[in-house]
Amino acid sequence: MYCKNCGAAMNPNQAICIQCGVKTGDGFNFCNNCGNPVTPGAEVCLACGVALKKASGNYGGQDKMTMALICFFLGALGIHNFMMGESKKGIVKIVATLCFGLGAILALIDFVKILTDKYEVDPEKLF
Ligand SMILES: [Zn+2]
Ligand SMILES: [Zn+2]
Repeated sequence: MYCKNCGAAMNPNQAICIQCGVKTGDGFNFCNNCGNPVTPGAEVCLACGVALKKASGNYGGQDKMTMALICFFLGALGIHNFMMGESKKGIVKIVATLCFGLGAILALIDFVKILTDKYEVDPEKLF
């Protein structure tokens, strides 16, 4: 296991990298499997072939089912988005719920995406 930010070798149960202080799993400069540098945004590591998908499968530190349930029950208020650091999406849901009552529909779409592993955590997106 390697730090994705600086590429230093690290122990899997370390919470942060001793070398650069970045949280384990954060950063996208190095492959966490083989430690080789990767292009930011690359989907697989060219050196070892491991999938690098930075966000999907990582629901703000929560597991998939927890996030799916939160999305199902509280999704209309964007709670699941805020928990994943996607405040833009969360705000859109609150506005949609308060103004048009549509937040639940957006939340339902997220719910289905989470269950089918299609959900991508992206703080820059609105939907
Ligand atoms: Zn590091
Ligand atoms: Zn690799």
